[in-house]
Amino acid sequence: MALFDVVIIGAGAAGLHCAAHAARNGLKAIVVDHAKQAGKKILISGGGRCNFTNMYASPENYLSSNPHFCKSALSRYTQWDFIGLVAEYQIPYDEKTLGQLFCDESAKDIVRMLLDECERYGAKVQLRTEVLDVDYEQDTYRINTSQGQLSASKLVVACGGLSMPKLGATPLGYQIAEQFGHSIVPVRAGLVPFTLHPPEKEAFAELAGVSMDVAANANDGHFSEAMLFTHRGLSGPAMLQVSSYWQPGEAITVDCLPGTDALEWLQENQAKQPKAQLNTVLQQLFAKRVVTQLGAYHQWPLTHRLANISKKTFQTIAEQLNQWQIKPNGTEGYRTAEVTLGGVNVDEVSSKTMQSKLQPGLFFIGEVLDVTGWLGGYNFQWAWSSAYACAEGLANV
Ligand code: FAD
Repeated sequence: MALFDVVIIGAGAAGLHCAAHAARNGLKAIVVDHAKQAGKKILISGGGRCNFTNMYASPENYLSSNPHFCKSALSRYTQWDFIGLVAEYQIPYDEKTLGQLFCDESAKDIVRMLLDECERYGAKVQLRTEVLDVDYEQDTYRINTSQGQLSASKLVVACGGLSMPKLGATPLGYQIAEQFGHSIVPVRAGLVPFTLHPPEKEAFAELAGVSMDVAANANDGHFSEAMLFTHRGLSGPAMLQVSSYWQPGEAITVDCLPGTDALEWLQENQAKQPKAQLNTVLQQLFAKRVVTQLGAYHQWPLTHRLANISKKTFQTIAEQLNQWQIKPNGTEGYRTAEVTLGGVNVDEVSSKTMQSKLQPGLFFIGEVLDVTGWLGGYNFQWAWSSAYACAEGLANV
């Protein structure tokens, strides 16, 4: 049986970063993963260029049943700390939009950097190692794996959430948490495209691939970004963001003309060009196919001249433009979700060290916890920050 100070389950963003820092702090650390490759999600993230952090990351960008939990870790290892590491490795990067930092070349640069950091400080990375079960006896964790038994006085659970099972996601983290008495805040897919009910799905399938700037809103989530029509429903950053706030059965509100009062705009045009058709003036705002499909769906009098359209009809059209209520059928689920909402209840974990308050020597980091970031580099920042807090905690408890 191989003996370590700390065994970390999951060689993803959080696990690799934690392993390097734990080893740097003098601990004999090993990170194990059932995958053939480390950091698989990092590799496919950001379209292969990894949106590794966000310049404006702050606690307001995270959802959790306890919104205060993430504050300590985010303030002790900030986006600037990670950016410093990326700069030290001379990885070229750029801001794409809204503070989102992407590698110029490839997400592989980030994985290579994390693996180099593990090597630099002597943390062992062992892949193709499935964790079968874990037990705890006489202050020691025994981790039974497909490659034999490991033991350590400290165990870090960094095995992520349920999104993208194809990439190796499993419920192991939640199972270990429950085994040691933790509660799990109900999990669901987040940052995920919406599917629509058949009438809307059919009405908008024609627009698949078309994107438009909108302001979308579900519960407390308001986002001004692009919305993309798909063959199954709605996607694009605005929809992915609000999906994390949406609850099944609810409607989302979409403003197709953010910053423009549609009623005023229609009435101004009615005064200026009364003989113009509704169809023609709406094409000043939207592509022709969008006008045709939206018009057919909402039953707008597209071929009528503006002069012949009543104020009441304008009010209805304006409401459909500024406050379009869409009731999704559901989401595409974990198959395409970028994250898992919910997870290990953070009220049972120390926000300073990520150590369980219920079980000595047990730590949770990254996505397995009930902390979920917005789209835009925030989820990786949570992985880096929680991993660092944990590595400090491991060295000091
Ligand atoms: P993970 O990175 O999921 O790592 C968990 C590891 O545990 C995996 O390697 C898995 O193989 C291993 N594991 C699981 N079960 C077992 C088991 N039973 N035995 C052994 N090992 C196990 N976030 C951003 O901030 N920016 C982005 O650009 C971005 N793009 C994304 C794109 C996609 C398509 C997806 C799916 C997610 C994206 N995310 C992005 C979210 C981000 O990838 C995650 O939030 C982040 O990877 C979580 O890190 P983690 O270390 O907690 O978990």
